[in-house]
This record gives sequence, C-alpha cells and structure tokens, in this order.
Amino acid sequence: MTVRNATSSGILIALAAAVLVVAAAVIGLGGLMRVTAGTLPPGYEQFKNDTTVFADGSDVVVQSNGEPAHGSPYFETSDPRYEAYNGPNGSFMLNPNMIVPQTFEFRLPASPAEATVHAETPLGPIGVALNGVALFNQYAGPGQQALTSEIDSFDQYNGHPQNTGLYHYHIVPLGLTVQNGPEALVGFLLDGFPLYGPQESGQAVTNGDLDQYHGHSHATDEYPGGIYHYHLTAEAPYINGDGFYGTAGAVSDVQGPAPTAAPVTTATSTPVTVETSEPSATPQATATPATVETSEPSATPQATATPTSPGSGPPAPALLGDVDCRGSVNAIDAALILQFVAGLLGSLPCPAAADTNGSGNVNAIDAALILQFSAGLIGSLSP
Ligand SMILES: [Zn+2]
Ligand SMILES: [Zn+2]
Repeated sequence: MTVRNATSSGILIALAAAVLVVAAAVIGLGGLMRVTAGTLPPGYEQFKNDTTVFADGSDVVVQSNGEPAHGSPYFETSDPRYEAYNGPNGSFMLNPNMIVPQTFEFRLPASPAEATVHAETPLGPIGVALNGVALFNQYAGPGQQALTSEIDSFDQYNGHPQNTGLYHYHIVPLGLTVQNGPEALVGFLLDGFPLYGPQESGQAVTNGDLDQYHGHSHATDEYPGGIYHYHLTAEAPYINGDGFYGTAGAVSDVQGPAPTAAPVTTATSTPVTVETSEPSATPQATATPATVETSEPSATPQATATPTSPGSGPPAPALLGDVDCRGSVNAIDAALILQFVAGLLGSLPCPAAADTNGSGNVNAIDAALILQFSAGLIGSLSP
C-alpha cells in the first residue's frame, strides 16, 4: 500500500521518497506495502497489495488494480498467479472470463455517518477489500437475482471475474479471512463504514446479530470508541443487507480494463459487465438482460466528459442509442445506460438517445439492444 497526504506537498515528497524505499524493499515480498499516515481513519493503513490510499479533503481515496494477491484459476495458465481450482465445491465450474487489471478509484467518506435515507447497494463495486479487490452485493443481476448459479463459479478464495475481467467477492473473501483471522477487518463499503469478518469473540456472526443493513455498533480493534460496522456472514446476504447504512461515496474505473488484457472477443471486451456463470463462452451480446450485472465503472470518464460540441447544454442526439453524444453507437453507450440504471450516474450526456426500444423508460433492455446492435446481431435500433 502507498499512502500519501494530498494536503501537503512537502510531506508528499518526503513520503513518496520513503514509499519508494519501502517499495524497493518489498517488491520481492509479494508486493505488500504498509505505510501509515496519521491523516487516515483507522484501518486504512491495513490496505496492501499495491493499493494507494490517501486522504483528500473529506474523502479517503483508495486506488487499486483490483487484482487479488492470491492465486486463482481465473488467471491465464501461463500467469505465475494461476492456481487451479482446489476448493471444496464439487460443482465448481470456471466461468469464461479471465481476470483483467482495473484502474479503480474508490472515494469513501472519511467520517462516515448514518444516512437519513438508506440507499440500496448498486450492482458492481459496493466497497473494497483490504487487498484492493472489489466487493459486490448479494445479487447476480437486476431484479435482485440470487447468486445461486454464480456461486459455483467462485474460485477457492470465493471470487470470480465478470465479463470485463473485474474480479470481485460477493461472499466471504477467504484469502483475507484465513490470512488475517475470521474476526479481523476485511475492508470498507462505499459509505466509509468498515466491514469485519464472520466471527466475533470466537462466535460466528449471524444475521440475527445484525440489523437490516447487516451491521451493528460496538468497539472494535481499530475503533475502540465504537463504530457502526458491517459483518460478513456465511449466510446470505453475506456482506450488506437492505442498503448502505451511511451515504455511499463513489467508485470509478479510470481507464477501464487494461489494454494488455488477455485475448478476448469483441463481445466480451466491451466495458459492459454482463456476468455469466455459464462455463461455455456464450457470446455475451446474446445474453438476456437477466444476466447483466449493471454496474460498470469503466465508462465513468465518458460519462463525466464534457460534451465536445459547443454550448452549455447537451447536444441533441442525432442517433438513437448514442447516449454519449459521440456520433456512434457502441458498448460505451450501453455501459452508460447500465450505470445510470444502477444509480452510479445521475444523468446521461444524451438522455433522449437512451430509450432504444421506445418503451418509455430507460433500463437494461435498452443497453442489451445496443450491445446486440453493435455486435451485428440486430440490424437497427428503433423506438
Ligand atoms: Zn459476481
Ligand atoms: Zn461487530
């Protein structure tokens, strides 16, 4: 982990130098790096696996590539991190996706507080584990689809990649809970509240010990004065219940899946997170909306980009499906719709282009149609 203080360039330079020394020292030790800084809330100094953590105003920023430090059958077999499945699930089935490094930036409130309205967690990252891996909620797709079949694609550390290679945990991240112990801090959800392991005082934590958001308040090792915190449980909903206890910060994937990603087909390299546990490489574009995991951080820069045309308002769309007003219809447009539907984006650059089937509202079906269109499976979009 790298820690820097965004508020003081002098400290930053000194710390950067120190970090370089430490980095050089730990490169041979699996990339683990632990540098503490007094400006961070407790627990953040435990991030590792080449994550970068720093305070920025009222936020804590965690940057990571999202790849686990532990092995996985979802690395290419030629990758030294490849580890064939050796877990206990006799029904394990490798999904067709491979782990691709991301460019995550999680922005969490440094002083988390209970929200007056508890927002549902989105699909996609809802938090970050101490190894920089994304945490996902208890659903496989829109409409609160259960993880039933997904679970069989979880590797021996309980993670798996979705179709853009974004590796994530929906349930107990065994790589962390085995290494650090079942009661230790595991990570933070986007609202800044910490997530602890599935045991407490030697006992398994159950849903009955927790409120509807899957947490409770008491003193912890990191917060001896007491704090609201979530717990992992062996039973659903595993990480979070009915939504965030606090107000969620943001997550973006600045560059999206790295261009050096393993060879993938055009369909599966789209930035849309269609997730499937099917073992065969079914073309993603033909997946039903039911299998779409609707959060895709990789398209955020497009969403926040200033429209290229002059004038203050968004340009009028000339093209149905051209949600980003860039003159073409492609997977980025679909990704924007999915982010919008998941609540990760407040608005679309060209909202009038989004309702591709003319249903009167914008939903994952519109995104699926764009994907099918861009894959050449349908000839046109029409309202
Ligand atoms: Zn998943
Ligand atoms: Zn507790």
